[in-house]
Amino acid sequence: MGAVRGMTATFFGALVLIFGWLTGYFDGAGVVEPKQEAIEPLGATFERHSLDEIGCAEDGVAAEQGQDKKPSLTEQARVALSNSDYARAVSLCRKALVAEPDDPTIRRNLSTVLTTQAHAIARAGDSELALAHYLEAAEYDANGGRPAASRARLLFDLGRLDEADAILADLKQEFPNRALVWQISGSCARAFGHLDQAVSDWSRAIELDAAFAENLQPHLDAARAEIAARASYLLKSTSHFDLRYNPLDVGMAARIPAIEQALDQAYDAVSALWGLHPSQRTEVLVLRRGESDAVGWASGLYDGRIRLILDDETREVALSRTMRHEHTHAAFHRLGLTLPTWINEGCAEIAAGASIDRARAYLADALSAGQVLPTPAELRSRWTTWSDADRVRMAYSYATSFLSWLQSQFGDSSPRLLFERVPSQGFDKAVGSTFGKSLSALEAEHRAWLLSM
Ligand SMILES: [Zn+2]
Repeated sequence: MGAVRGMTATFFGALVLIFGWLTGYFDGAGVVEPKQEAIEPLGATFERHSLDEIGCAEDGVAAEQGQDKKPSLTEQARVALSNSDYARAVSLCRKALVAEPDDPTIRRNLSTVLTTQAHAIARAGDSELALAHYLEAAEYDANGGRPAASRARLLFDLGRLDEADAILADLKQEFPNRALVWQISGSCARAFGHLDQAVSDWSRAIELDAAFAENLQPHLDAARAEIAARASYLLKSTSHFDLRYNPLDVGMAARIPAIEQALDQAYDAVSALWGLHPSQRTEVLVLRRGESDAVGWASGLYDGRIRLILDDETREVALSRTMRHEHTHAAFHRLGLTLPTWINEGCAEIAAGASIDRARAYLADALSAGQVLPTPAELRSRWTTWSDADRVRMAYSYATSFLSWLQSQFGDSSPRLLFERVPSQGFDKAVGSTFGKSLSALEAEHRAWLLSM
């Protein structure tokens, strides 16, 4: 512990990639210290269901068995749900449905417990299974749009914005009074860079349900401020970026040539390192701290456009690292490459020039202090929900170490080969065809290797 705590907390840069599910930062000078928890535009938790929503169906089965004293299947499901035994609750509701396949209450109950189970599965990190459960839940009963909205939200968290957006378009027609739908829709719009739409959707969510204001109002205010700021900003285009800044801010204007240079160098670096050459231009918004809803420690973020948070003391080297980190996220996004978040972060870290030795030394220190490496489920989970800053830093160090390990095992260009294959094969298949094994097998090997060091 001593080694970790004893480090000087010099802090240069922190980066946030917000598709809603992730907060990233990179290590500018050796130690990263998140000052606060990340923002999460979608709210802290999945929508919860009250147990009262499990309707009291005459589920028939218990009665058939002539067991008057035995609680009905629905009653038992309610108890299982209150004990967070979701698998049992689902199984009981399925049984009830076998007896009464068309009973609307039983169908709704099954939809509710499947949705609740899917929330838990998503929190545990198995996104694909959770998505399948939401889909199945909606087939039993639309349930006020809840399972579909939850599915859209998880897709959003996973960066699958187009899929989320398609579901939301239907939901807005079918369930126009559901605040959650407008909340997610607004966050999607923001991720696409459509700020006006985000403001309109978020406002509607708050109108429909004032409880959404607590979480959304700061984002709404920031979006409005940004719309106002952008209107007066000057546009300067580089080879690959559209840079917007405030010409009246003398200190900011003085930094623009350095930022332009850092951006073009970032494009070339990411192109050379990972083989990513997006032809679509990326907007870069230079903001003063306070003009953005980025967290206090962030120096940049990518959410459809790169936002650079400029402080007077921001040094050139930090600018350069921030741009390389953020442009990596932008390039993956622009090229439609959907990667697991922690892989995306590892790539951004390496592009930013993070020290592999330092990342591994941090992990080794943490291990010797009795901590454990991030588990595979933690790596797949939504990082913004983590409250333990040490664990967050461990995840970043682990991701960085993993990418570097892949290169040392399979060749420096092996990740590039992987990225070339992702668009046609999807990530999991592309990993198999590039490395001859699954991501979980590779991750387990890297883990064992780290622990043997
Ligand atoms: Zn990042």
